[in-house]
Amino acid sequence: MQSLCILGESMARDAPMDHSIAIAGSGIAGLASAIALHENAGHIRIFEQASQFSEVGAGLQLGPNAMRALQAIGCRDEVQAFAYAPPEIHLRDGLSGKLLRRIKLGTTFMQEYGSPYLVAHRADLHAALLRIAATRPKIEIIKNCSVASAVSARDHVAVSLEHGEPQSHRYLLAADGIKSRLRCNMFAGSEALSLSYMAHRCLLDSIPVVSGIAMGCVNLWMTPWGHVVHYPVGAPARLNIVAVTGGEAVKTGFSRAAPALQSLLDTVPVWLQWPVAHVPQLSRWSSGNVCLVGDAAHGTVPFLAQGAAMALEDSAALKRSFNLPKPLEAFEQLRKARVERLDRQSRSMAQLYHAGFPTRLARNVVLKLIPDITMSRQLDWVYRG
Ligand SMILES: Cc1cc2nc3c(=O)[nH]c(=O)nc-3n(C[C@H](O)[C@H](O)[C@H](O)COP(=O)(O)OP(=O)(O)OC[C@H]3O[C@@H](n4cnc5c(N)ncnc54)[C@H](O)[C@@H]3O)c2cc1C
Repeated sequence: MQSLCILGESMARDAPMDHSIAIAGSGIAGLASAIALHENAGHIRIFEQASQFSEVGAGLQLGPNAMRALQAIGCRDEVQAFAYAPPEIHLRDGLSGKLLRRIKLGTTFMQEYGSPYLVAHRADLHAALLRIAATRPKIEIIKNCSVASAVSARDHVAVSLEHGEPQSHRYLLAADGIKSRLRCNMFAGSEALSLSYMAHRCLLDSIPVVSGIAMGCVNLWMTPWGHVVHYPVGAPARLNIVAVTGGEAVKTGFSRAAPALQSLLDTVPVWLQWPVAHVPQLSRWSSGNVCLVGDAAHGTVPFLAQGAAMALEDSAALKRSFNLPKPLEAFEQLRKARVERLDRQSRSMAQLYHAGFPTRLARNVVLKLIPDITMSRQLDWVYRG
């Protein structure tokens, strides 16, 4: 029997399973949660609405907290084998082009946090989690199968699928992303809130040479009208670029940017638009035997690059929670305060990144002069979490 059943359009018709866990969505949160829980559950059935796992997506940053979470669920080595370790983060003023600050990663981060700071292509991380799930006999993935709704009873949850037989499971984890249909069914008024930013993304097939830019590093360019982040991912290396504007096209948004940044942006043939949104902070993530995880619970703006990290941390927390008497409540207690702080801080980063005159000048002076120790404390709580 195949350890991982990808059933495509055909639906499983087994009898209801009492100790099984259903998961809606096989993104990073869904797959990592299944891997984390495979020892605790009778059976794990993941329903994924898409019929194919595509290469869609670009770069993800995996800070030390993400790597620790991967270690907790037994996936660290597999991911470390293909992820890239940038030597430094470069913070730049996107108008003058000046390099304001170099943050050393590499051994500095290893010594400080006991885990590296890595970056990867989302498709590579996703493929690695799929490979690992395939080695866990209790995990089954059913593609082309959208979860429509769920109704909790005392000791099970009835899961309705868009096409297919109703299912009965002990728990349902809703890992159906930032636009989560299950979250909107569970909690009125919980629709993701669009912000006035647009993230334009691209993946260049090779790394362009632009004088004055260290392409092997994570570069963050800040302008009053938006910011740009770029770093290499994959092998052979491709350049991941995300340009965040106030809604306008990249060319318009960065028309007054430093020549080096404009030269880089000009090399991009096509941008993919990704509207920036976040999930309102909810008083609960679970109701009965259903619980939100990943972006469905706490999707936020990508300004601290922690979306995948928070999904991975969720999975490690689920692993701990499912050894406790009320696992869904325990999960909320372990996770809520931390991701709410992360959400607030991520959204507040726009003020720093997009500062105009005179705040921009003050920011630049602070970033140049602040001691390393003070600088590293700013995100210490994120990386140590
Ligand atoms: C295609 C794609 C590309 C991405 N690219 C990037 C990127 O380049 N950089 C970045 O920082 N972040 C990216 N993200 C977001 C990033 O993956 C998430 O912020 C983070 O990893 C948390 O993931 P998640 O699993 O909670 O949600 P998601 O990654 O959004 O996964 C949700 C999954 O649920 C499935 N789904 C949705 N509704 C249902 C339903 N009703 N029934 C069954 N399945 C359902 C979706 O098809 C998807 O596979 C991308 C997300 C997706 C889906």
